[in-house]
Amino acid sequence: MKKVILGMAVLAMVFTSCNKDEQVPNLEQTKVDMSDFYVYTDADQDEAARMASNTESKSCYSMVNLNRLLNENPGLYKKMYDIEFKTRTQTNGKGKPPSDGGGGTDPAPLYTSAVSIPVIVNIIETSAGRVTQQQIDSQISVLNQDFNNNNSNVNNIPTEFADKVADCEISFTLFEVNRKVNIRTSWGTNDAMKDASQGGIDATDPSTYLNIWVCEIGGGILGYAQFPGGPIDTDGVVIGSDYFGLTSGVYGKGRTATHEVGHWLNLRHIWGDGRCRQDDFVADTPTSDGPNYGCPSYPTVNCQSADMTMNYMDYVYDDCMYMFSKGQNSRMRALFVSGGARAALAGN
Ligand SMILES: [Zn+2]
Repeated sequence: MKKVILGMAVLAMVFTSCNKDEQVPNLEQTKVDMSDFYVYTDADQDEAARMASNTESKSCYSMVNLNRLLNENPGLYKKMYDIEFKTRTQTNGKGKPPSDGGGGTDPAPLYTSAVSIPVIVNIIETSAGRVTQQQIDSQISVLNQDFNNNNSNVNNIPTEFADKVADCEISFTLFEVNRKVNIRTSWGTNDAMKDASQGGIDATDPSTYLNIWVCEIGGGILGYAQFPGGPIDTDGVVIGSDYFGLTSGVYGKGRTATHEVGHWLNLRHIWGDGRCRQDDFVADTPTSDGPNYGCPSYPTVNCQSADMTMNYMDYVYDDCMYMFSKGQNSRMRALFVSGGARAALAGN
C-alpha cells in the first residue's frame, strides 16, 4: 500500500513540476518543500476502531470522506497537491514543522483583509420545522464568535499557547435557508443529502456560498466536510441535526460546524491523522499521535510535547475547544488570494 501511495506521490510531483514551469517562478519552486504532503490516510480503519473502543465519543468523517473522494476522482490528488503547493508559497514554504517536533512559528498570512462568507443552510428533516430557526441563528453566531476569537471559553487558554491564538477575521452571514421533509433518519456520509434526486437538496453555487447541510447522519458521526479541490456539486459541510447550533449535551455548543468549516478551509486534524511523524502542515500546533476526547487537563503530553487539545481541530467536547492557531489562520487565508481555491468567496 505504501509503495502505491509513494508511486502516486512521485507521479503527481512530476505532473506538478511540468505544469508549474508555466505558473510559478522557479525561485518559488525551490522554496517549497512538499516532501511531507499526504492525502490518503488510514481514517477508514482508525475511525471504525475509535468508535468501537469509545462508545461515548462521537466522530468526524471528513478524512473518511476524503479517502472515498480520492478513490472516485482520479484527478483529485493532483488538484489537492496544487492547492497545497500554492498554500505553501503563501506561507513561505513552511509546510513542515521544525525539527523539534512542533511548537514553531508560522509566518503571518499574506492575505490580511477581513473575509465575509455568505451561508446557505440546507435542512433535510423528518418533520417540518424540527430544526428550529433558533438553531440556525445560534449556529451562525457561534461560527462568528469562533472565527473572530470572541468566544467565552478562550480565557481558559494555558500560557504556553496564549500567544498562538488567532483572530481569523472570517465572518459568516445567513443568506438562505432551504428545507425539505424526508423520513430518512440515517443519511450516512456518501453525499446523498446533497442530491435532490436522492431526496436531498442540491447545492447552491458552492464557489460563492458556503453550503451547510443539516440532517441525521447516523453512526455516531457529528459531521463531515469536503476539502478544497473536491467536486463542486458536493462542496460544503454536513452537520448532524442534534449537533447543529446551540442544542444540548457535550456536543451541543455549535462547534461541530466550527471544526468542519475548518476542514472546508483546508485545515487537517490537529494530530495529522497519523502517528507522531505525520503532521497537520502547521508549525505552531504541536505534533500528536491521535485525537483527544472529553475535556483533557493541561498538559496532555504526546509525542514529547503538550497537545493543543483546546484547538477546534481536535475531538474534544465543544466547551473544551476554543482556538485556532495563527499558523492555521495563515493556512486558511492562503485560499483567499487571487487564484486561490476559495478566492471567489473573498471577492478575489
Ligand atoms: Zn474532523
